[in-house]
Amino acid sequence: MTVAEGETPLALTRRARRMQRVLADRYPDAHCELDFTTPLELLIATVLSAQSTDKKVNEVTAGLFRQYRTAADFAGADREQLETILKPTGFFRAKTESVMKLSARLVEDFGGEVPNRLDKLVTLPGVGRKTANVVLGNAFGVPGITVDTHLGRLSRRFAWTVKDDPVDVERDLMAIFPRKDWTMMSHRVIFHGRRTCFARKPACGACPVAKLCPSYGEGETDPVKAAKLLKGSMAAVGSLPAVGQLDQADVEAAQHTVDLNAHPTGGGPGIETGSVVSSSVGGPA
Ligand code: SF4
Repeated sequence: MTVAEGETPLALTRRARRMQRVLADRYPDAHCELDFTTPLELLIATVLSAQSTDKKVNEVTAGLFRQYRTAADFAGADREQLETILKPTGFFRAKTESVMKLSARLVEDFGGEVPNRLDKLVTLPGVGRKTANVVLGNAFGVPGITVDTHLGRLSRRFAWTVKDDPVDVERDLMAIFPRKDWTMMSHRVIFHGRRTCFARKPACGACPVAKLCPSYGEGETDPVKAAKLLKGSMAAVGSLPAVGQLDQADVEAAQHTVDLNAHPTGGGPGIETGSVVSSSVGGPA
């Protein structure tokens, strides 16, 4: 594992876990945002979510899952009809192919049921570790780290990892967080990426983990302007004294620390990486 300059692996673990607890306060309702009632529905919805939004996928699957209920239904679907239904999610021909092929495999090799093991799930056509971990974590309660675009991006911004490859990121995060937290940690960070820590303009001035983030200052630091950037229910939270939210003095102090410690990767040893550790912060499992 590579850590931010000047931060020991132990300090990284403690800082990351503290960030995770702050995010748990900020997003108490963090969850998988794809609608599903069965492992098969979640598997199909996750395949459809590639290059699409969860909102769009949910609009499509609301009707899709009324029409197709079993793996056999999908495997034996009329291809053109299925393509028409899936079209709004984009890449509909490839997605139709994946859905029909993986469903056929479920029927042939797994009695029509979705397996609850990673090694089996990744043998299904079009199913990689990300999709498998979504299904394991949310349909079967098996802890899994879902390295999607948000979790990968924020993990690097947080200096939890310097890796780009999702499998490498997953491995680094597995070393930081206890297994029982993997699924919820993924949801919380993804929520944060969608509502506060945006790719282009993160709302640093309204961010609850600003004091713990080496990338503070990459986005808007003015608390009032930053609060206006927040999305979803956070837009209302942003104007309130939310848990862990910085006051102006905190913002200025953190900005000063970042300025003093800025380095090419955006990670700064002065972001209280060691000093923020309180006696209530647990060490590595
Ligand atoms: S301080 Fe800024 S870059 Fe860091 S997590 Fe918050 S919004 Fe993202």
